[in-house]
Amino acid sequence: MSAPTLFAAATPPFYDPFESLNEDARESIKRKHLQDIVELARSKSPYYKKRLEGLELDIGGEHPLKDFPVLTSQDLREQLPPVSGGLLTGHATAYTVFQSGGTTGVPKTSLFTHGEMELINACNARGFFAAGLEPGDRVANLWAVGGLYMTFIHMNRMLQQYGCTSFPFSNQTPADFVHTVAGLFKINCFTGITSVVLDHLREIDRKAPGSLKIDKIYFGGEHIYETDRREMAEKFGTRIIAAPGYGTVDSWYLGYQCGHCANGIFHAFDDMVYLEITDDSMRSHAATGETGMLLATVFHRKLTPVIRFRVGDKARWLGRQCPCGRTTPLFELLGRGDDVLRIGYDSVDYGFIQQLAARIAGASSRIQMEKRREDGRDRLVIRIETAAPPAEHAAMTARLTGLFVEQRPAFREFVKKGTVWPLCVEWLEEGKLPHNRRTGKLIRVVDAL
Ligand SMILES: [Zn+2]
Repeated sequence: MSAPTLFAAATPPFYDPFESLNEDARESIKRKHLQDIVELARSKSPYYKKRLEGLELDIGGEHPLKDFPVLTSQDLREQLPPVSGGLLTGHATAYTVFQSGGTTGVPKTSLFTHGEMELINACNARGFFAAGLEPGDRVANLWAVGGLYMTFIHMNRMLQQYGCTSFPFSNQTPADFVHTVAGLFKINCFTGITSVVLDHLREIDRKAPGSLKIDKIYFGGEHIYETDRREMAEKFGTRIIAAPGYGTVDSWYLGYQCGHCANGIFHAFDDMVYLEITDDSMRSHAATGETGMLLATVFHRKLTPVIRFRVGDKARWLGRQCPCGRTTPLFELLGRGDDVLRIGYDSVDYGFIQQLAARIAGASSRIQMEKRREDGRDRLVIRIETAAPPAEHAAMTARLTGLFVEQRPAFREFVKKGTVWPLCVEWLEEGKLPHNRRTGKLIRVVDAL
């Protein structure tokens, strides 16, 4: 067996020399990668051969991919096994099949060759390095496992190669057992999908407050909120709470946080992925500071090239340097493009509800919003977990409703005219909101059928 190599590969102060190159040097590396992957896709994949026919990369232009079509999740489903092999560049047989989205029936897949898996481990190590993981850290791995799900096995291998002590719990292990083992082996670090990590730690705190100190929390898959950070620092003395990697199984890691990144802010992995942010129509590029849809072109997925993939998340470029000294550009992730409900003529964003709830004493950040159709009219239902006693719920509802209509005068008008129903707010005990059974993620938004 080889010795752990991933931490040893770092070239401090950063993990990779690319992270501090000047813009010209970075840009020329990116464009070379872009040319290579487009050339490979065009020459080897039957799907891209047809799709990119007659299209040229504008390699010297500001946006080299601007004339290329956008790849959707549905395109991937149709062009990848088991449906078809149109996107494949060859007949590799040694790869790992992961499932992306969907839970039953024919899986939507994402294929990684074993070499690509090694590279994505190194990519993840860069993010963990920036977020302060050290060899010798004792890490509880609570990522989702099984059902062709990627993250757990990938994290497990990364932790071993980085030189950490690894505790492969997965999201399936009850909090009690995690607690026992964490105490016996002095686990100092938790990693997993945000909801799973926070729920486990909350349950441990409820049963045995003050019994555990957790130095570092590495989350992903969902946002974390300021109230969660404060709570973890208070209950477990947590020093570092960061997302070492933001990405999707359909594409790659797209961003990572350093110690200076506030909630939702990431450095781009731009030697791995060409990132674009466009307007909703995906026709023109968003200016710095403007919100748009993220598109990703992955440089190193050679078995199944992913070119201009619509990630489904909203983001904006920040256009400023990070105090850490890395030159890889910063972007802010603004949630799923589909984390919005259309209520009457109003579009209500999940992030907006989070902001309101943060101003209500007793409201947690575990929130679900649902659109219901009742007698032909829309109703917005907001469900929030709380530890506050039921006697306080009515006042909390009044305060939340007041803030909501104060900030959305149009909504108040619609209610008055009878176009939509008034807001409905429900307070739930902690742990009562539903989660996706496979991933453990909180079900944040439910649209009317
Ligand atoms: Zn930074």
